Amino acid sequence: MAERTVEYLVVAPHPDDAELGMGGTMAGLLAGGRRVGVLDLTSGEPTPFGTPARRRREAAAASRVLGLTWRGNLGLRNRELEATLPARVRLAEAFRTLRPRVVFVPYWRDAHPDHLAATALAVQARFHAKLTRTRMRGEPHYPARLLFYYCTHLRTHADVAFVVDVSDGFGAKVRALECYRSQFYDGRGEQAGAVVEYVRDVNRYWGRMINREFGEPFAVQETLGLATPEAVL
Ligand SMILES: [Zn+2]
Repeated sequence: MAERTVEYLVVAPHPDDAELGMGGTMAGLLAGGRRVGVLDLTSGEPTPFGTPARRRREAAAASRVLGLTWRGNLGLRNRELEATLPARVRLAEAFRTLRPRVVFVPYWRDAHPDHLAATALAVQARFHAKLTRTRMRGEPHYPARLLFYYCTHLRTHADVAFVVDVSDGFGAKVRALECYRSQFYDGRGEQAGAVVEYVRDVNRYWGRMINREFGEPFAVQETLGLATPEAVL
């Protein structure tokens, strides 16, 4: 894992979850010159049409499309992801070395056990990363904000706290999703690309909610502050 820092870090259970949930937000932050990283927790394999090598290539291609500052994979076990103490330490070490101010994690209600485990793991690792007098790599660090993005296997939009205008970055989001051919296109027949179209519909809906073309929703567990009311659309 490269020793560099990011301002924003998206923790994803599987390669493609970060792009599905908040690819437009990442594109917007990057267009504004921010340092944005994605840490995938697992390879995402096995899947019907993927291989580990192919998934790595797809994730690398999507990262290039978005222009990510950094992307890594923690190498935890797909389909068996659990919020164990050793996994917590590894994610906490990533927080301590990458030192993000804001960490994005999956929304806390989901049908996929890996997603539920990823949320629990990230919440625990955020706290664990600030501990002193440990053998963990890096210096103590507490990400100031934990925000929740929606990459759920439930058709829900409960608890939305705010919506980011992603009208400008939505094209990049779609191009990034199109890199994941093994997940959304190959072997799908007439359903090829249906997931991407679903994401387009949902993001268009949220865009309408804020009088913009496309939007991505987020949830919070802590009170959210605004530097200025000017930031409200
Ligand atoms: Zn996933």
